[in-house]
Amino acid sequence: MSATNAAALRESDRLKESGTLSLVESLVRLSPSRASDYKTCPRLFKYRVVDRLPEPADIYSTRGTLIHAVLEQLYLLDPADRTIERARALTAEVWTNLKADPEYSSLELDPDVESTWLEQADALLINYFRVEDPTTVSPHELEWWVEHQTELTLLRGIIDRVEIMPDGEWVLSDYKTGRSPSETYALGSFFGLKFYALVCWRAFGKMPKLLRLLHLKEPEIITLVPTAQMLSALEKQLDALAHAIQKAHQKDDWRPRTSHMCSYCPHKPICPAYADERAAAAAAEQPAVLLPVVGHVS
Ligand code: SF4
Repeated sequence: MSATNAAALRESDRLKESGTLSLVESLVRLSPSRASDYKTCPRLFKYRVVDRLPEPADIYSTRGTLIHAVLEQLYLLDPADRTIERARALTAEVWTNLKADPEYSSLELDPDVESTWLEQADALLINYFRVEDPTTVSPHELEWWVEHQTELTLLRGIIDRVEIMPDGEWVLSDYKTGRSPSETYALGSFFGLKFYALVCWRAFGKMPKLLRLLHLKEPEIITLVPTAQMLSALEKQLDALAHAIQKAHQKDDWRPRTSHMCSYCPHKPICPAYADERAAAAAAEQPAVLLPVVGHVS
């Protein structure tokens, strides 16, 4: 898969997820991101999934798309060619393609901001090479679309990387490139990988042996060994979440849940939770009414 295809796939993931909602009465389609959205704020879920409101590209998620695409391309090279120089060349190539994509035109980075932003992306790549030697990695799957359907849910999404060890065990890896508020704060940073481990377990009968989170900003690798008890508990949580979403949909009751996450929410300007704040701001902008001065003649 090409780098631009990877980016396109991520977008199509969003679109496919968004397209669920006519079927929400019978089947709730969930990815880690959409599940986190509902947990973070039901109103945010409604804007994203039910109303399918457009959202402008932001520099943080775009940087994530860029790094994921670069690493995917890097692993397609022969191990000996997976150098930082090749990674930088891929960055330039992928970024040129992304900039030409209308989805990212709303970014409108001025040259100075773009230069700083690319330096930050380069720092993430340097950090990647600090925590892992890509010449030793033998990916079995990259940006792998997986799904599993139950009576109530369709669980699905894209796993960054799957390796199969010599003993046949699976290892799932996920790259984190920095601020990813919805996933990190709503359900914990391992939520996505546990979700994918559950899908692998149920869909392929294969419980991964190890989950690896590569935090490229710090940088550090955090690991977790999934267990049947852990994944069964998650499955029950997801079923409960699906029931809650069905209920909200039936009652058209998507209450805003304010938190620090609102600072990152692209729908804050229309969110009812901030109606009073908007009204107060609008009132403060009204020009003062000048009363006529009544003169006094003695
Ligand atoms: S602004 Fe806050 S409360 Fe409103 S939809 Fe967004 S996250 Fe929810």
